[in-house]
Amino acid sequence: MSTLPITFEDVAAAHERLRGVAHRTPVLTSRTANERTGAQLFFKCENLQRMGAFKFRGAYNAIAQFTPEQKAGGVITFSSGNHAQAIALSARLLGVKAVIVMPHDAPAVKVEATRGYGGEVVFYDRYTEDREALGKRLAAERGLTLIPPYDHAHVMAGQGTAAKELFEDAGELDLLITPLGGGGLLSGCATAAHGLSPACTVIGVEPEAGNDGQRSLHTGEIVHIDTPKTLADGAQTQHLGNLTFAVIRERVSEIVTVSDAELVDTMKFFASRMKLVVEPTGCLAAAAVLHGKVDVRGKRVGVLISGGNVDLLRFAELVQAAG
Ligand SMILES: *Cc1c(COP(=O)(O)O)cnc(C)c1O
Repeated sequence: MSTLPITFEDVAAAHERLRGVAHRTPVLTSRTANERTGAQLFFKCENLQRMGAFKFRGAYNAIAQFTPEQKAGGVITFSSGNHAQAIALSARLLGVKAVIVMPHDAPAVKVEATRGYGGEVVFYDRYTEDREALGKRLAAERGLTLIPPYDHAHVMAGQGTAAKELFEDAGELDLLITPLGGGGLLSGCATAAHGLSPACTVIGVEPEAGNDGQRSLHTGEIVHIDTPKTLADGAQTQHLGNLTFAVIRERVSEIVTVSDAELVDTMKFFASRMKLVVEPTGCLAAAAVLHGKVDVRGKRVGVLISGGNVDLLRFAELVQAAG
């Protein structure tokens, strides 16, 4: 008798839609990381996903389910991060027009990447305009369908396919740990865990500067905060979604936090030990494990690496500043 927004069947159906389209990313292990933590760690490498993050899964799963009318009308989103590129790429693959609302001062690389995937970029002034209102107005005026970055059942189910693959490849786990922003990834992965490894404890990891998810889980109400200042730009959300929180409060045991310094240390670990380029937000779950925020000793632990989109000069600066 489930009244949750998504079920395991939704995740399994999303997985079928993504077959042959999304990469089945590798699950890597590291003797060094295992020795350091006393656990058996399985890293799911969504930094190696198409467009560089798991967000491709949810975006494609959502647009693939458009009606013919919606496909003819096009898709719009107001996120400027990995979700924007995920929407632009998915729309191109499905022959759908994409409009991305971005701040006028968005980094040129992001604008170019989105345009490179065939998306139309519409700018707004982040100091005087409300991006959500603009997105909704454009959607109504131009007959576009709005796909938000996390609070949407099809997006959540798509993100859960990353964990489904991890359980299929690694077997049942004691713990599954994922990054947490608005909760699309965590809610989808927790749903996959419930279906494939019911005894697995699911934990989300937020930046220390923005622990709204942790407070929401404790209080039972969605806590709103100001945009947190953190290197984890993919997790700079002000609050969880209604749909994502409904799943998280049922299926997630705990939410822990890590500092920016711990994220940079983890970026260094991935680059030097595992030859992986991981963006700061992508390091959240691994940072919690490597810095003792979760008791993993003696356990089989899935660790989701969520993305690898970081400017190379920025990467070098962060690593160098940390010494
Ligand atoms: C969006 C994003 C997250 C957070 O995902 P949510 O579904 O918003 O919780 C984590 N890591 C990366 C790399 C992202 O792009």
